[in-house]
Amino acid sequence: MSKIKHLQKLLETKEITCIELTERYLQNIERQNKVINAYINVTAEEALETAKKVDERIAAREKLMPLEGIPMSLKDNISTKGIETTCCSKMLQGYYPIYDATVWETLKNQNSVLLGKTNMDEFAMGSSCETSIFGVTLNPHNTDYVAGGSSGGAAASVKGNMAVYGIGSDTGGSIRQPASFCGLVGFKPTYGTVSRYGVVAYASSLDQVGPITDSVEDAAIIYDCLSSYDPKDSTSVGSKISTRDKIKDGIKGMKIGIAQEFFEGISKDIKTSLEEAIKVYQDAGAQIIHFEMPKLNAVLPAYFIISCAEASSNLGRYDGIRYGYKTDSYKDINEMICKNRSEGFGKEVQRRILLGTYALSSGRYDAYYKKAQNLRYSIIQDFKKIFESCDIILTPSVPVTAYKKGKALVDPIEIYMMDICTVPANIAGLPAVSVPCGFDKNNMPIGMQLIGNSFEDYKVLNAAYQFEKLTKKTGVSYTGPEVEI
Ligand code: GLN
Repeated sequence: MSKIKHLQKLLETKEITCIELTERYLQNIERQNKVINAYINVTAEEALETAKKVDERIAAREKLMPLEGIPMSLKDNISTKGIETTCCSKMLQGYYPIYDATVWETLKNQNSVLLGKTNMDEFAMGSSCETSIFGVTLNPHNTDYVAGGSSGGAAASVKGNMAVYGIGSDTGGSIRQPASFCGLVGFKPTYGTVSRYGVVAYASSLDQVGPITDSVEDAAIIYDCLSSYDPKDSTSVGSKISTRDKIKDGIKGMKIGIAQEFFEGISKDIKTSLEEAIKVYQDAGAQIIHFEMPKLNAVLPAYFIISCAEASSNLGRYDGIRYGYKTDSYKDINEMICKNRSEGFGKEVQRRILLGTYALSSGRYDAYYKKAQNLRYSIIQDFKKIFESCDIILTPSVPVTAYKKGKALVDPIEIYMMDICTVPANIAGLPAVSVPCGFDKNNMPIGMQLIGNSFEDYKVLNAAYQFEKLTKKTGVSYTGPEVEI
């Protein structure tokens, strides 16, 4: 069931005012954020101002726009005019953008109620929000575990009932992985359908913005609002298809591809849940097609070379001169820039900049960057072939469920490996969603990933919606803006 539609109905029938609704969410934040750390900046004043505007429009019997009056959160790498945007880095603390990211402009024009900016790994580099200068975000499903990352704050804001939906970004899995860890729906659209303008760049050829919600229908509603052509983003294409209309199509005859390589090394609980999910699809008339993906083991090396190379170039702008962190004392300009960057960036960001700079350096370019780009091209070709005979591909979202705080810092390489299932969709620019499909032995949520062909976002959301309907594993029936988690 769509929480957005449900709440809009309550607003339109005047069962609750937008101010009351916003206050309830602000109360939830007040109560829970100290422990969960989903928000790093709560914008209560702005939220109540917008809510007042919405109430006035309702009083004047205006028809609500699809996301109007709905309290939501934005990841802190999305530029918000006049509202601090830090990317959870010391480098950008105190930075107040002078323009809005297109995604925020679109939502703002719909009178979306922004509750605040959410925690993330520094510059979106990480998987548990532990590289954030604001510290870890805990999983509201069970606070012994992390919420995931890098859009961990976005996921925790939704799971903790501190926002109806969260907008995150996904370069290698940062929307889908926290959604999977928290038992939510996380959707990374086709590259180019949602504008990247004003979203602080990590790796521009991989970055995509998308929603984290607790139902597939809400993800479709948000995606339809955000997926339009933006002349300010040179890779923008937009989309004219309304996924919201198409998600309700049946799935009889849908061809679902499965490759064994995605299932190697996953735990027994995840395997069992996914096998059950496959059975649900088969019983509903979908056809399972087995294929091989021998290049899967090359996906992560290609991703880390390409993403770090792009990061080293994108993050070159932070010299602390025009804006950003500036050191207190220095001898000359070289020492100043060196100190600005080594004091302003955290360890993980520095590691990636160094790796990327090395991979792009003369003499090493052919051995690393060029090789990674060739691999990327050949992986794209492989997917093209697969989609000649399949409508969607089904995989685990992550090979593991949420882990405990501290693990990512102790063993970063092992954590990098956990991006194996999500990264292929970024490498090939494909749409992919994570939907909850069960729980492991510790009662932590398991996510199933559905990947589609480019610009077939509607097929991915259709298959996810049908799964949700058949199993009722997401979109938990929602009766009101309850105050407790
Ligand atoms: N966990 C991945 C990484 O650290 C993905 C990050 C992302 O999607 N922003 O690179």
